Amino acid sequence: MKTYLIDLDGTMYRGNSNIAGAKEFIDNCLKNHIPFFFLTNNATRTLRQNVEHMEKLGFKGIEEKHFFTSSMAAARIMRKKGYDKAQMIGMDGLAEALHNNGFEISEEPQCLFVGLDKLGNYEKYSHALQYLLRGAILVGTNDDRLLAHGDTFHIGNGSIVKMFEYASGQTSMKIGKPHSAFLYEALDYYHLSKEECIIIGDNLETDIALGANEHVETILVLSGVHHEKDIERLKIYPDRIIHRLDELNQ
Ligand SMILES: [Mg+2]
Repeated sequence: MKTYLIDLDGTMYRGNSNIAGAKEFIDNCLKNHIPFFFLTNNATRTLRQNVEHMEKLGFKGIEEKHFFTSSMAAARIMRKKGYDKAQMIGMDGLAEALHNNGFEISEEPQCLFVGLDKLGNYEKYSHALQYLLRGAILVGTNDDRLLAHGDTFHIGNGSIVKMFEYASGQTSMKIGKPHSAFLYEALDYYHLSKEECIIIGDNLETDIALGANEHVETILVLSGVHHEKDIERLKIYPDRIIHRLDELNQ
């Protein structure tokens, strides 16, 4: 039995509304002990906040252990390199990931982590820039250019990371989907191999590209950003295409 690595936004829910078939699919996985985890580029929520968000949407039986975020991947990668002093631009999810991985928030940081801070402003960014100019390493949790917001888009974390790259002259390592580092950290965290997993997502350029690059089986669900016609345009090919997640129910 393979483990599903599932995207959240556009796959499970869209903002504050459920996607048809998602709850039925999760209920079926839990009932039949089919393993699944959520892989998300969203670095803002803590594990508890992720659980609560899904409970509010009517999902049941979801636990903190089901989530692996780009914040967690970023913190684990830098901790493994031996760093333990940090500063951050981000929200609760990033703060939690740094804390859980043994980072101390310091005025002499070795790394500046940049997740999305919805209260970010010029002063905060300029202050954080000082750490980079004094030698801290820039670590963007993900490089999403845009962030879906209802029918439109807000500025994604990747655009903020680009600003810091330009200002500091540094280049951030690439961590969130579609970058392989995220998959490798998730596999390490859950003690899985590529062959044991199936990636499910709505985005060809992140979810499906990650699977295609790393030879992990993929399923595109047509509930989010990309449609069948985008496959040839982007030349990113999922192994399977479904309209609703509960098509996978046994
Ligand atoms: Mg998505």
